[in-house]
Amino acid sequence: MQLSSDAVILRVWPVNEADLIVSFLTRDFGKLKGVAKSALKSRRRFGGALEMMTEVRATFADRPRQDLVRIDHFDLITSPLRTPVDYARMTALSFYVEVMEQALPDRNPEEVAFRLMTTVLNHSAAGQFWPSITYFSLWMTRLMGWLPDLHVCTVCSSSVLESGAWFHPSADGLLCRLHAMSASAPLSPESLHLAQRMLRSPIAEFAVQPWSAQRGADLRRFAIQSLERHLERRLRTAEALRRLATSVVPHSETSLATTLE
Ligand SMILES: [Zn+2]
Repeated sequence: MQLSSDAVILRVWPVNEADLIVSFLTRDFGKLKGVAKSALKSRRRFGGALEMMTEVRATFADRPRQDLVRIDHFDLITSPLRTPVDYARMTALSFYVEVMEQALPDRNPEEVAFRLMTTVLNHSAAGQFWPSITYFSLWMTRLMGWLPDLHVCTVCSSSVLESGAWFHPSADGLLCRLHAMSASAPLSPESLHLAQRMLRSPIAEFAVQPWSAQRGADLRRFAIQSLERHLERRLRTAEALRRLATSVVPHSETSLATTLE
């Protein structure tokens, strides 16, 4: 049976002579893998729609007793390549791909995750990727059910707004001063406030202002650490993001944002 759904391309790799395997996140059927026959020859069926994080209308067929769907064609909706992609932005896009690939099970419809992905993509086009990465990491942690209430200490339920908030690589959520373990890192009051705003506001509210790599860096570390702990692996692209944020050669948007703050 032929099916179709809006989708975001995650990863593409070659198989056989001219075929491709594509991993893609659909709105209606969850994350799927499929084979695109002769994709390297047919620009008509896949032209311009096979890049990472491209949004497409996907038409495909499920095959009995087969893990891979048969991809018939992708119709391009929008591509991240319509604006210039520098190293920093490529790293951000790769981070989204890695998190989606690792966190979401195949064939499990996750409409909210799909909407999160497309909104984040729409708001990271203008080089504002630090708020997008922070928002995405925090929301993915919540959507996966890995984010406890950020108002209270997860051990004693006392308010962290008063005592200050800490986080630790081996603990969920936030800890009060008393329950912070050694090697806990503080979450600044500004970042705690930012987290609470991000969990109730659309991304558009954050992606408009200039934003340095330092702003919310502790919150980003907290969210990425939570993802990594539950995925039981280090995210390769998170390390690249960390290097980017602390790079001694400032990235153009970063230096602009720093100047404006
Ligand atoms: Zn406590």
